Amino acid sequence: MFVGFVGLGGMGSAMASRLIGAGHRVRAWNRSPEKVKALVKQGAEAAGQAPELAEAEVIVSMLADDSAVRDVFLRDGLLAKLRRDTIHVNMATVSVELAREMATLHRERGVTYIAAPVLGRPDAAEAGRLNILVAGPSESIGVIQPLFDVLGQKTWRFGERPEQANAVKIAANLTLACAIEAMGEAAQLVHSHEVAPRDFLEMLTGSLFACPAYKTYSSLIAEERFSPAGFKARLGLKDVRLALSAGEASHVPLPFASVVRDNFLDSLAHGEADMDWSVIARVAKRRAGALG
Ligand code: NAP
Repeated sequence: MFVGFVGLGGMGSAMASRLIGAGHRVRAWNRSPEKVKALVKQGAEAAGQAPELAEAEVIVSMLADDSAVRDVFLRDGLLAKLRRDTIHVNMATVSVELAREMATLHRERGVTYIAAPVLGRPDAAEAGRLNILVAGPSESIGVIQPLFDVLGQKTWRFGERPEQANAVKIAANLTLACAIEAMGEAAQLVHSHEVAPRDFLEMLTGSLFACPAYKTYSSLIAEERFSPAGFKARLGLKDVRLALSAGEASHVPLPFASVVRDNFLDSLAHGEADMDWSVIARVAKRRAGALG
């Protein structure tokens, strides 16, 4: 397939690289051009401007947030250049509101919009082990399934309306953020009783919570390994805010989300925005007076 790829951050670079490795023709654009150069060495074509991707059959975007998607597709005019039969797959974590708006704007131009946010960090993207949460017109999802098969271990379908996949992704990340928060607080409790957080977290993930998410984040918390970030705290804050805003719009109170949002703000106020989002465990440590 001829794929136009936009957004070569930690996730996008790994995903575009896999598509090239699987033999797809990839033309790539990124705001910071040095990341495109790295991909060209692997066989990608470079686009000087985002609208140069418009010749592709499928556009895959992996941009940071709502405003990046607006900048590239609306302000910089990529959407206006797309041909009628193009499929745009937005794999970033964006708001349900943006997904609704983008679906309408694409439909008006005869372009198909699919939301396919993912579970998995850059290492999972490199290995093609993402879980892909998809919603949109089912026939078009069938067309791009071969791309998903290269990027992910499983594609989970959630409906015909793109925003349904975004609601699922936002809810999944809220669950993860609460798990990180719970482990961070609990680790401080045992620390205050002279038990090493590492021993406690090892027991927890070898018994009650023996599952991938708890294992990944317990080791980052135990080793206080917050840099380099797999997923930045500033993006974690973005996702919790997306949950709060989706909840508010549909009258679903999310009290845990409010607590976790404030803890991300605390992290950002302490200069930790570009550290891994598990750095909110430090907030619990600061509060307990245990940060040296
Ligand atoms: P990242 O490393 O921060 O990369 C963000 C990308 O967006 C970069 O290509 C950046 O360009 C681009 N960008 C940001 N603002 C822009 C703007 N105004 N105009 C044009 N381009 C802009 O983020 P990431 O970790 O790859 O995450 C990408 C998306 O995947 C996010 O929605 C995130 O929530 C989601 N996600 C991440 C993970 C993870 O573990 N990292 C897992 C699942 C989902 P520059 O290179 O020029 O800065």
